[in-house]
Amino acid sequence: MNILVINVGSSSVKTQLIDTNSNAIIFKANASKILNKGVIKTSEKSTINLMERGHDIALEKTISLYTEKKLTIDAVAHRVVHGGDLFKETTKLNQEVIDGIEQVAHLAPLHNPNNLKGIEFAMKALNNISHYAVFDTAFHSTIPNRAKHYAIPKEWRVKHSIRRFGFHGMSHQYVSKRAAEILNSDIRDLKIITCHLGNGCSIAAIEYGRSVETSMGFTPLEGLVMGTRSGDIDPGILQFIAKEEGKTIAEIEKQLNKDAGLKGLSGLTNDMQTIIQEASEGNEDCRLAIHVFTHRLRKYIGAYTAIMGGVDAIVFTGGIGENSEYIRHRACQRFEYLGARIDEDKNREFKNEVGFIFSDETSRVKLLAIPTQEELEMALEAKKHHQELNKVDKTLTIPIAVSARHVHLTQDAVDVLFGKGYQLTEYKPLSQPGQFACNERVSLVGPKNTIERVRILGPTRSKNQVEISRTDEFFLGIDAPIRASGHTEGSPGIKLIGDKGELTIKEGVICAWRHIHMTPEDAINFGVKDKDIVEVSISNGERPTTFGNTLIRVKSSYKLEMHIDTDEGNAAELSRDAKGILIPCEGDACLVKKTN
Ligand code: ADP
Repeated sequence: MNILVINVGSSSVKTQLIDTNSNAIIFKANASKILNKGVIKTSEKSTINLMERGHDIALEKTISLYTEKKLTIDAVAHRVVHGGDLFKETTKLNQEVIDGIEQVAHLAPLHNPNNLKGIEFAMKALNNISHYAVFDTAFHSTIPNRAKHYAIPKEWRVKHSIRRFGFHGMSHQYVSKRAAEILNSDIRDLKIITCHLGNGCSIAAIEYGRSVETSMGFTPLEGLVMGTRSGDIDPGILQFIAKEEGKTIAEIEKQLNKDAGLKGLSGLTNDMQTIIQEASEGNEDCRLAIHVFTHRLRKYIGAYTAIMGGVDAIVFTGGIGENSEYIRHRACQRFEYLGARIDEDKNREFKNEVGFIFSDETSRVKLLAIPTQEELEMALEAKKHHQELNKVDKTLTIPIAVSARHVHLTQDAVDVLFGKGYQLTEYKPLSQPGQFACNERVSLVGPKNTIERVRILGPTRSKNQVEISRTDEFFLGIDAPIRASGHTEGSPGIKLIGDKGELTIKEGVICAWRHIHMTPEDAINFGVKDKDIVEVSISNGERPTTFGNTLIRVKSSYKLEMHIDTDEGNAAELSRDAKGILIPCEGDACLVKKTN
């Protein structure tokens, strides 16, 4: 499969067509300095001068090189720097996804808008193939909460989604997979620390194939010392410099991005090769730059070893990590405490395109240098998702919705709890037509505990019904039966407290029977009918789960959706857009129990 990889930056358009069967580059065209009438260079060594400035002309000319050559392009992978909270994996592009990328663009104002220019242009120019957004942040979406959050005022976290996202995802993903290959091990058995040291630098702790920590955070400014970025600093410095130098926050942030890091320390350049050369000739600032750079790196390696409770491999990549034996040598000194010993000869002498081990034979922890291949990883990501989607497209899928605990009330109950003649008010509509979540809430008072602020769902019904999870039952001290909605006979009662009164219902507390709403047309498509019992499989990320004993409910007013409760959703670690499939029914082993 041939995937065109497109990476649009602030002043460049980088493209390459990759044959994902052989991983070979078929053709490559990079436009640089495009804000200034740039130039396109191709893998066939041709150079094209652009006659106008800007992204549009650079994109048009670059992509036309592929169409003029009539190269086969099966799908396009677009690099998108920030996926925010919306995108946790490579995603097929459509207008809704484009709107989502726009929605999170304020988190990466220097990157996402340029990425979007490439997407919009290429989707028009190559309009009969699938386009995928591959996010730099996605690989780090597995980072646990304890590593994800800053200890900042709660409203910053809640209102502005300020948290650690991490970047360089494709590089960390690629080199960690490649390290496992070189070590002839399964990545699911390895604890790996990957150090991407280029102009931008970041480090990641990858436990059994999943990123659990990384040094870049809310923005790519946090963490290691970089070419021109400071990495970690005391935030108190901002106010100090603002006051002492009379600078605005924007000016200071720009300097921390453009004038800091190796450039700031050396007072000379962001280029590590030059810094190493100057340091060897006695330049003290350059020596300091190398010392601070490698000290910070070693500090993070130690920290990430501690976080994972050990490490099996440490991988160096990026221009510095791949090429500088000197920085690797400095970074890996005195690592005996964690079981890593550098082989200085291998470190000096080895160099290749596929990666190599430079630790001593006796070293328990392996040290590796691996050239990163972010574009190849993007192409492989797009291919994987393209193939999965095309597979899933042929299967009938069912959207899954998780229902939180809630209450249905009769109008008589509303009268008691909120006052005679009170009408429930709509907070927001629910997916099933005509149903809505209400602004009104009640407390559930059980024998053991009380659960407050439980949402009422409207409209009012002919019977009171309280739907809770098994965890809620335990907390309240109630044994509720598993029942289909409306079948409350013989179920326990509970005390409800509303704004204006209390009501003890004699029965009505149930744990909802997991079920699928569908229309008669859906039922024909799935080959089921009302009240059938089916099994539904959800292949969702790390915890694929099969739900047995799932009730089919058919009505022309329904919308296709499976409803499960919060315990069930948590068990399967459902993502927002999770979908399930009916497990096929075959002969005697038929898993669908027909009702008659
Ligand atoms: P980017 O992050 O822009 O892709 P690279 O990954 O190409 O950048 O890394 C650029 C950095 O790699 C520069 O600081 C450069 O000096 C450094 N570098 C490249 N080769 C060597 C080398 N042999 N020794 C030391 N540093 C090197």
